[in-house]
Amino acid sequence: MSLIKTEEEIEKMKKSGALLSYALQAVVDAVAPSVKMSQLDDIARQAIEAGGGKPSFLGYKGGGGVPFPATLCVSVNEEVVHGVGSRNIELKEGDIVGLDIGCVLDGMFTDMAVTVPVGSISKERMDLLRVTRQSMYSGIEAIKVGGLISDIGAAVEDAIDTKKYGIVQALVGHGVGHSVHEKPQIPNYRSNSFPIVKIQKGMCLAIEPMVTLGTHEIETADDEWTVVTKDKSGAAHFEVTIVVTESGAEIITPQPKIRI
Ligand code: MG
Repeated sequence: MSLIKTEEEIEKMKKSGALLSYALQAVVDAVAPSVKMSQLDDIARQAIEAGGGKPSFLGYKGGGGVPFPATLCVSVNEEVVHGVGSRNIELKEGDIVGLDIGCVLDGMFTDMAVTVPVGSISKERMDLLRVTRQSMYSGIEAIKVGGLISDIGAAVEDAIDTKKYGIVQALVGHGVGHSVHEKPQIPNYRSNSFPIVKIQKGMCLAIEPMVTLGTHEIETADDEWTVVTKDKSGAAHFEVTIVVTESGAEIITPQPKIRI
C-alpha cells in the first residue's frame, strides 16, 4: 500500500478522524476520581460503534502473542502508553491519565491520544502535560512538503527541556491510514538510525511524543502491553493524525477540549 493517500482516501480519513475525535471527547468528559478504566473503555467502544466504525486496537497483535484486549489504551501516572483499558481499576484524584484510541471507518484508520488530569494535579504533572502537548504541535509545525521526516523529531526535541524531562525513544510515531501502523517511523528526537524519508503531499502521519518526568527508559509489564517508565516517573502522551498538504499539515483528529 502506498504511503501517499488519494483524495478519496483522505476524505474517508477525515470522516474516520472526526468520529474518533468525537469518541475521545466522550471519554475525556467522563474522567473523574473513582471512575473505572473499564467504564472509559465501554464509552469509547460504544461511541465508535454508534458512528459506524470499529475499534482498531481491540484484538490488535503487537510484537507479543497477546492480542490487545480493549478498545482504549488507558495509561495512568508511570504508565506511558498501551495500558489495558478494560482493567477494573479506579482513577484517583491527582492521577494523570493517558487515553489513546484508534478506529477504522470505511477502510481507513486514524489514531489519537491525550493525557488529562484526574481532579486537581501537582504543578509538576501539569507542566509535563503542557510541555508534551506543545512538543506535538512543534513537531506538526515542522512538517513541510520536501522536508524530511527527521525534521519532526528535531522540532519535538527542541520543544522539550531534556535536562528536566525524558523523551521516550523506544516507541515512535508512524504512518497511518490503511492499517494501525505503517511506515515511516517518526522518532521524537534526533537520530541517525532511521531511514531518510522525504515528506510528501498526501502522507498521513500519527505524531505522538511520549515524555517523562525522569529518563527515557521504559519497560513492558507482565500483561505484555502496559508500557511503564523504568524509574516509575510520571509520563504523558499526546497524539494526532495529520495529512500532509501543500501548505503544511492538517490535523484530521481534532484534539478534544481538555482542562490543562
Ligand atoms: Mg499511534
